[in-house]
Amino acid sequence: MAYIRRPKIESMFANYRFTAAERFMRYVKIDTQSDPRSNTHPTSEKQKDLSRLLSEELKQLGLADAHMDEWGYVYATIPSTSDKKTPVICFCAHVDTAPDCSGTNVKPILHNNYQGQAIVLPDDTSQVLRLSEQPYLRTQIGNDIITASGLTLLGADDKAGVAEIMDFANYLVQHPEIKHGEIKILFTPDEEVGKGTAKVDLKKLGADFGYTLDGGEKGSLEDETFSADGVVVTIHGVIAHPGYAKGKMINAMKIAGEILAALPKDRLSPESTEGKRGFIHPVRVEGIAEKCTIEFIIRDFNTEGLSKKEDYLRTQIEERMRTYPKASFEFHVNEQYRNMKEVLDMHPQVVEFAREGILRAGLELKMESIRGGTDGSRLSFMGLPCPNLFAGEQAIHSKLEYVSVQDMNKAVETMVHIAMVCEEKN
Ligand SMILES: [Zn+2]
Repeated sequence: MAYIRRPKIESMFANYRFTAAERFMRYVKIDTQSDPRSNTHPTSEKQKDLSRLLSEELKQLGLADAHMDEWGYVYATIPSTSDKKTPVICFCAHVDTAPDCSGTNVKPILHNNYQGQAIVLPDDTSQVLRLSEQPYLRTQIGNDIITASGLTLLGADDKAGVAEIMDFANYLVQHPEIKHGEIKILFTPDEEVGKGTAKVDLKKLGADFGYTLDGGEKGSLEDETFSADGVVVTIHGVIAHPGYAKGKMINAMKIAGEILAALPKDRLSPESTEGKRGFIHPVRVEGIAEKCTIEFIIRDFNTEGLSKKEDYLRTQIEERMRTYPKASFEFHVNEQYRNMKEVLDMHPQVVEFAREGILRAGLELKMESIRGGTDGSRLSFMGLPCPNLFAGEQAIHSKLEYVSVQDMNKAVETMVHIAMVCEEKN
């Protein structure tokens, strides 16, 4: 039997007063929107307002080494309570909110005992949460739901994860009898603008593997992301005075138009694919008659699938270019990130502990793949295998964003169980 000290689940949290929701309501009021146009770290200084508060609160919990560094990352350690040599686990969440929607003056509203009614957000009554449009709400009848007020996003992505990790730390500090190894806490800035790992110091962190708390439905565990490349195609035309260009000019922009028109419409595009299928997606065109560049993003769950798509794209371009022997093109591929599964498959216990933790929390396990990347995909390839756990966040990056108190508490329970499973198994 693999798990000897299976705890009595009911008793473990029966007398615990969860603090995740209370913390969450405070954290979302702090504006931490990241800025995609900025080249500083963090991309917006205001993210540090929350990071500073978190490191203070961690210190107050008794985590002596808690601190925020100059880049706005928060690091802290929960010391081991076990005599065994146990791997060091990290729990990680991001403090910033998405630039898609305002994060200024967020007014969180707690709707107790939700009964399936439409929730009209008071500051903009055209913003209505409806069961018919948010099927996950069906699982929340009787629960307590937190929304914003209609003018901003809520920031459950990822302050739900932040608040849950804080409450998890609080729980472990109050329950020294729970056996677990050393645990690291990491809060990062700039996840939403793709720079969440830019200044992370994994050596200082010193964890063997980790979990980001940045997912949706309770019980979900994401161990797969896209693999991603960027492709920049530069087309060199032939320039001439337009009054005397007959038989000479080759307009690079027109070639670009032909290339775009030749892309398949019923497959290989974001608008025609779902599930495990990848795509070739033009994201930007820029140019003049002489020279034009097209930027593509290429996505696939298999890294070999990426190069197949790149070969296909190159062939398409070569075919178009055949009509214009005097024009030429360059084709540059940049690696963006890789499917974390490539790393996680080499460390199967990381996903296994999370599965067991979710089941012990009394939840149904939902294994999912992300049609995108997470900080976890980058961290995994930087040496910290890191799948993504649910945090309860829903309708993210929008004014209808919400999270339930009960889902948040389940995420806290899940982390406690993961910490215990990891200690038991070693
Ligand atoms: Zn997120």
